[in-house]
Amino acid sequence: MGKPYRRILLKLSGEALMGDLGYGIDPTIVQEIAAEVAEVVNSGVQVAIVVGGGNIFRGIKASAAGMDRATADYIGMIATVMNALTLQDALEQMEVQTRVQTAIAMQEVAEPYIRRRAIRHLEKGRVVIFGAGSGNPFFTTDTTAALRAAEIDAEVIFKATKVDGVYDSDPHKNPDAKRYQTLNYVHVLTQDLRVMDSTAIALCKENNIPILVFDLSVRGNIRRAVTGESIGTLVGG
Ligand code: UDP
Repeated sequence: MGKPYRRILLKLSGEALMGDLGYGIDPTIVQEIAAEVAEVVNSGVQVAIVVGGGNIFRGIKASAAGMDRATADYIGMIATVMNALTLQDALEQMEVQTRVQTAIAMQEVAEPYIRRRAIRHLEKGRVVIFGAGSGNPFFTTDTTAALRAAEIDAEVIFKATKVDGVYDSDPHKNPDAKRYQTLNYVHVLTQDLRVMDSTAIALCKENNIPILVFDLSVRGNIRRAVTGESIGTLVGG
């Protein structure tokens, strides 16, 4: 059992909000995630969230189909804002105070990203949801998660996925696949283990930010992860 965390950055992919739907947002799933986040916030943990947009729009896919890549990426970033507002609504319905900060200014719907302000919100117990990725095309929300975690001095990135950690081969195809309890950054990069994209891993490595990969669909896992129970795979030095 590790030590409990005080300030975490939770990376939610857009697909995490999609559930079994092929596209968009499943409100039941969003409520479940919000309930888990509310539980840890109410226990005094500071939570920042970076949310993806793959359930709505992926720049790289649209650019493969002929769209200008930067334009497609801007659309992808705007998609993440829809997810951010959805999460905000679900959390506020559970009486958790939140702020959405976007890396592309949208002052009518959210605050702009201001690092010191984000930290202040966290200190006051508000959940800060970062939307619009890094604000730059050609990046991902995984890289944004690494960047924001470094900026706000988060102790760890929780990378919520559909599997309970990182395996040496695909557990859906190979019944003997073994889960790593811990992994180092270099191993992840050289073996191309797809924990997060390589830019994100490199940023975490440089700034010594551990990444905990775990299964979000198991209820209570965010709490377990926060309290230092050994679940998933911990990527570190
Ligand atoms: N995106 C971007 N810059 C960023 C973050 C995201 O251009 O800093 C765009 C990119 O087009 C990406 C889309 O937003 O495909 C959605 O983000 P991502 O694919 O990371 O979402 P996830 O896979 O986590 O759902």
